[in-house]
Amino acid sequence: MNEIILLKYGEIVLKGLNRNYFNQLLEKNVRRALKRIPGEYELEYAQSVLFVRGGEGSDMDLAVERLKKVFGIVAVCRGIECAKDIDVICDTVKTYAGELVGQAKTFKCDARRGDKKFPLTSPQICNECGGVILEALPHLRVDVKDPEVIVRIEIRDNSAIVYGRREKGAGGIPVGSEGRAMLLLSGGIDSPVAGHMTAKRGVQLEAVYFETPPYTSEAAREKVISLAKKLSEYAGVIRLHCVSLTEAQEAMATNCEERLFTLLLRRFMMRTAEQIARKSGANALITGESLGQVASQTLLSMVVTDDAAHMPVFRPCIGLDKEEIVVRARQMGTFEISTLPYEDCCAMFTPKHPNTRPKLEDILAEEAKLDVEGLVARAIETDQIVFC
Ligand code: ATP
Ligand code: MG
Repeated sequence: MNEIILLKYGEIVLKGLNRNYFNQLLEKNVRRALKRIPGEYELEYAQSVLFVRGGEGSDMDLAVERLKKVFGIVAVCRGIECAKDIDVICDTVKTYAGELVGQAKTFKCDARRGDKKFPLTSPQICNECGGVILEALPHLRVDVKDPEVIVRIEIRDNSAIVYGRREKGAGGIPVGSEGRAMLLLSGGIDSPVAGHMTAKRGVQLEAVYFETPPYTSEAAREKVISLAKKLSEYAGVIRLHCVSLTEAQEAMATNCEERLFTLLLRRFMMRTAEQIARKSGANALITGESLGQVASQTLLSMVVTDDAAHMPVFRPCIGLDKEEIVVRARQMGTFEISTLPYEDCCAMFTPKHPNTRPKLEDILAEEAKLDVEGLVARAIETDQIVFC
């Protein structure tokens, strides 16, 4: 008897002619997730299910945790593989009855015979196994119409597999199937969530963090690196660009009107992010903005911000309330990191009375006082890449 993990594929099952491409990508992403944990794992694909067998030094608990974060998988089931013999199958069901059923009070069995030469029919297999479960866990009841859990028995060519409870997978489509985009990653709560939502729809993330040393500390950068690492558990390895906007922010503070600082800075971020994105082969920018959340996120502010970008800007949090974003951040495990108390580069230069109805011509007049192109070019020269 050996533990086995079954990964059920989601939407990619519908992908018709492209299905092979999606399957290969998903398998690659699963391998990558497993490479980052100890032990050896062997994969086998059959009919929209990827089977993961643990080899030497494997940690199946950790493997399940990691695999639940891989986009493209709708369900993760833990099962047991055993010899294709009804006595051995019944023994297996008896030994693992508790794990297979979990907290459920009702169940049914479902048997499938890939090998039609197996001496028992599917209903006979169900009868045998159902009897064993009822004997082991007498508080259970069979419910064929609406059971809380289905214990499945699959008779395959070389073995039998028994599995029960299914845990929810990450859903979405495999990372990499939709090309690459540049996430503007701050130390806040929203941008990691925006990255997660975009990666879920197949986008490979690259990230940029703008800092303002010495106004922002090394610890603030470490926090962003931790966020990118957490995000990489879902999105695969992320190249994080750490870029200094100190010169640009000081130039703004010296020359421009205070109430426009935030928007001027946001336009600097867009321009700089876009140039780094082009060099990295990314085709869109992603931010954690949500409409109306703060002064720089009014609709008119976003219009002014986007005027500085020539790539599409994705804002997946646009329609979420802060509370909803927090729920997602907690689920993905970034909330605790985001709420660590380090300074934000914008906070140093936040105007007391920000303009919530900015006019583009006012912004352009302020920018005319600066060497925008030179400042952006020099900011890009400070780029330090961290692989997360
Ligand atoms: P977050 O919680 O993501 O920091 P926020 O509510 O604090 O968002 P802002 O500070 O206005 O909002 O930032 C809006 C978006 O701009 C962020 O979600 C992020 O995508 C981007 N951004 C802000 N500051 C930075 C930064 N220092 N480096 C990179 N991107 C940033
Ligand atoms: Mg922020």
